[in-house]
Amino acid sequence: MTAPIDLRSDTVTRPSQAMRDAMAQAPVGDDVYGDDPTVNSLEERVAAMFGKEAGVFTPTGSLANQLAIRTLVAPGEELLAESNSHIVRAELGAAAVFSGITTRTWPATNGLLIAKDALDLARPNSGPYLVSTTAIAVENTHNFGGGTVQPLEEIKAIRKGADELGLALHLDGARIWNAHIASGVAFNEYGKYFDTISVCLSKGLGAPIGSIMLSNKERVTKARIWRKRYGAGMRQVGLLAGAAHYALDHNMERLSEDHRRAKELAVAIASVNKSFVDPALVETNIVGLDLAKAPYTAAEFAARCKDAGLWISALGPKYARLVTHLDFDDEQCKAAIEILKRALVA
Ligand SMILES: *Cc1c(COP(=O)(O)O)cnc(C)c1O
Repeated sequence: MTAPIDLRSDTVTRPSQAMRDAMAQAPVGDDVYGDDPTVNSLEERVAAMFGKEAGVFTPTGSLANQLAIRTLVAPGEELLAESNSHIVRAELGAAAVFSGITTRTWPATNGLLIAKDALDLARPNSGPYLVSTTAIAVENTHNFGGGTVQPLEEIKAIRKGADELGLALHLDGARIWNAHIASGVAFNEYGKYFDTISVCLSKGLGAPIGSIMLSNKERVTKARIWRKRYGAGMRQVGLLAGAAHYALDHNMERLSEDHRRAKELAVAIASVNKSFVDPALVETNIVGLDLAKAPYTAAEFAARCKDAGLWISALGPKYARLVTHLDFDDEQCKAAIEILKRALVA
């Protein structure tokens, strides 16, 4: 049997031999002492890309998000986020558990940001009776929304509104690379509008582990203390930062191939049933399937695909997700389309 095609996530990629060579050769030191040159140069490099003063390397994107929001929001204060955002749904309540942060959410169709919807919810300086809003999180691209790229106009509008209300803005930019490739918006343009940013090296860029939280020096210094307190002060972690440098050098421009293949999958799926996905909305590497009109559940559909050699995610009773990535080529794309077409017909 041929190896299964794995489209559960863009986190499933394995480091290439060239990336492993880069890791093996990376100069290292004890990063808790600030002595790892490869980590230091990675933090400086990514901070400069986004026009930020500093960055701190973390093992996961969840930790990068959590370090960011805890520097913005005090215990008992409120963070606003979209109702299907990663911070709210996929970090196991970390904001509440670790930082005493409460959240309130606004729903957005396909995760697409409408600044007004978020701003209308905000209640800064609420006094001694109601919870005060301190920050808003924006996810770009929006994962559970289907890899949605946030419009720059809405980002500008939410920054303007946040300034008027005295609120901070966090960008969950786990897949900001995909947003940049799809939209052509420069990283330092995105960087302008946010007080803190998290980015993942282990998604589309294909590094095995690693994220970075970016902000000004003061917040990053605080975040370093909390990173250690959480037990994520790492030692000769330049081995991983070496993979991240390699990923930034070699795996950025090719993201457009992931986007093209995701579109091909969406077109094939829509040819079976238009209600499952609108290919026009597939802008990046995520294809979200709405199976509301199908006679099977997402779990049943995923099981059917798996039997045929294609792994996908069932993320809701009727919502399935396919994610294209570095280890998924044109030949596998053809094979995946054949499997999907057979599995989609009831
Ligand atoms: C993957 C992801 C993260 C971070 O996930 P980790 O598994 O903790 O690295 C954060 N935000 C979004 C939108 C993601 O897709």
